[in-house]
This record gives sequence, C-alpha cells and structure tokens, in this order.
Amino acid sequence: ATPTAVMVATGVGASHGVLIKGGDALERAQNVQYVIFDKTGTLTQGKAAVTTAKVFSGMDLGDFITLVASAEASSEHPLGRAIIDYAYHYHCFGKVQDSKKQKKEEMLAALLIEASDFSALPGRGVQCSVNGRSVLVGNRSLLTENGVEIPSEAENFVVELEMNAKTGILVSYDGTFTGVLGVADPLKREAAVVVEGLKKMGVKPVMVTGDNWRTAQAVAKEVGIEDVRAEVMPAGKADVIRSLQKDGSIVAMVGDGINDSPALAAADVGMAIGAGTDIAIEAADYVLMRNNLEDVITAIDLSRKTFARIR
Ligand code: ADP
Ligand code: MG
Repeated sequence: ATPTAVMVATGVGASHGVLIKGGDALERAQNVQYVIFDKTGTLTQGKAAVTTAKVFSGMDLGDFITLVASAEASSEHPLGRAIIDYAYHYHCFGKVQDSKKQKKEEMLAALLIEASDFSALPGRGVQCSVNGRSVLVGNRSLLTENGVEIPSEAENFVVELEMNAKTGILVSYDGTFTGVLGVADPLKREAAVVVEGLKKMGVKPVMVTGDNWRTAQAVAKEVGIEDVRAEVMPAGKADVIRSLQKDGSIVAMVGDGINDSPALAAADVGMAIGAGTDIAIEAADYVLMRNNLEDVITAIDLSRKTFARIR
C-alpha cells in the first residue's frame, strides 16, 4: 500500500472511532488468526452489579454489606465499585428523598467505616483491616491461601452463582468466613454477533480471564466462544498470547484493564477499549473509542482492504 492509502485508511478508522497508532499496526491486522478477548469490561459491559448477598455467620446482613463496601472503598476494580453501589442502594436509597441535598458521596462517607492497611491484590481481591480486624474480599484462592475455611454450604451457594454466569465474591472477617456476594456483568449486546462474524472471517476467538472456570465457561457459552482460558493471573495473559504465537500465528488481543496491558503489548495487534484504563490504552496499537466490539472487525477489514488481500 502507498503512504497515501495508509493515510486514507487511518482517516477511515478515525471516522469509526478506531485510532490506529502507525502504519505497521494497520498492516499487521490483515493477517490476524486469533482474537483473544478479555472477559470483564471487554466482552461484558463492565457494569457489574451485585445481585445477591448472603451471610454465613451470625453477622447482620446490613453490617455485612457495610463491612464489604468499607473494605472496597479504595478499590478501582469494577467489582469493588459494584459493591459500594450496592451498599449505597441498600442503606441509603430510602433516605434520599428526605435529604435531597445530600450527595451520594457524602452519604457513603457517613456509612462506610474507615479501612486501614488496604491492598489490592490483582486477579484475587482486596485485603485490609476494618475495626482493627483483618478483612479479605475476593475469590476462593484469596481466602484459602490465607487459611480461611469455606463452609460447604457457602461453596454450594457460590457454585450455583457461577453456573449462572455470575461471579461469587467471598468475604472473611477476623480470619473467619462470613459471607458471599453474587455479581452479574451482562454481555455487550454486540458480543455474540462479533464472535460469529470473526469465525466467518476465518479468525479464531479465544476468551481469557482472571475469573473462575465455571463463570468463564458460562459466559463463553453465551457468547459462542469455545476456547476459554480462565483463572489466569495478569502475567499469565501475556503467556497465553506468546504460546499461541509459537507456531508463527498472528495474534490480536482486545482488553480494557491494567491486568490486560502486558498481553496487549505482547500481541501482534493490541486493541484497547476506549473506556478502559490509561495503561491499557498506552500498551495497545489500536484504541476502540466507541467501546463497540464491532470495531474489532472494522479494524481487520480496513487492514485487509488497504493491503488488498484477496480472500
Ligand atoms: P478479568 O480478567 O476478568 O478482568 P481480574 O483479573 O480483574 O478479572 O479479577 C479476577 C478475579 O479476582 C475476579 O473475578 C474476582 O473474583 C477477584 N477480584 C479481583 N479484584 C477484586 C475486588 N476488588 N474485589 C473482589 N474480588 C476481586
Ligand atoms: Mg477486563
């Protein structure tokens, strides 16, 4: 392709909100054989919502919800934000009308208990201290690795959530298992159509996620992806890319999170969701400003047309 053709293609991309960082990236996209999708925030809307909360100790349900939201107050993870929202609705919703002037943040500040020693554990959850007691909020391995026993009643409850494509978030307080929250994150409405379209173009879709196997498989089934890699730690996502590249395959990665940036950098074509984190956008070759997965196909099509590949 001539420099003019590349310039024109870059302009066409921009008119779709597809920002292309350079002619090399534009050229590589035509040969993509695999598209690896992150699950949360990429295939799903990233608008996680708590659908259920259940206590498995003597704690009051309202206190449990306040505790978990307090632990997540410093979290930037979509799951953390979903939990804080849920606490707000659970405790403050009825009160909004008689205190119209009070903002959401003020009401939350009054509700939440200050946590100390907060740390976010990527791919696992959060850890902190509330009322001087240790609190863990996250997946199974976070709790079990810290010596917290999960009662079988709670394990069954979590399995049930996962089979319904929801993520179970487990909570311990002072070293004792306390309860579970169920979180749903709906698929983007175009996700299944895009997966189908890629298959028709001869491109293999793959899903990679830090979430558990059961939830991952339920979501993959809904969206039409057969090749699933679940319970992958952030560094592991780049390893998935490299293992697919071993036989010379050209691999694209689509992601939105901090935990996707090593994989976006490792891929032959990294595509960041525009609404994603700055680190992901920086690591990528393409930015999909409309946050619409159809633009993955737009990008590949544009490259194929610009470089006049006949198929
Ligand atoms: P994904 O790869 O799908 O974007 P992550 O790697 O961010 O997912 O997280 C993997 C899992 O770790 C989540 O499904 C959840 O179980 C747990 N987790 C991560 N961050 C949090 C958090 N702030 N609160 C609760 N659980 C969390
Ligand atoms: Mg994500």
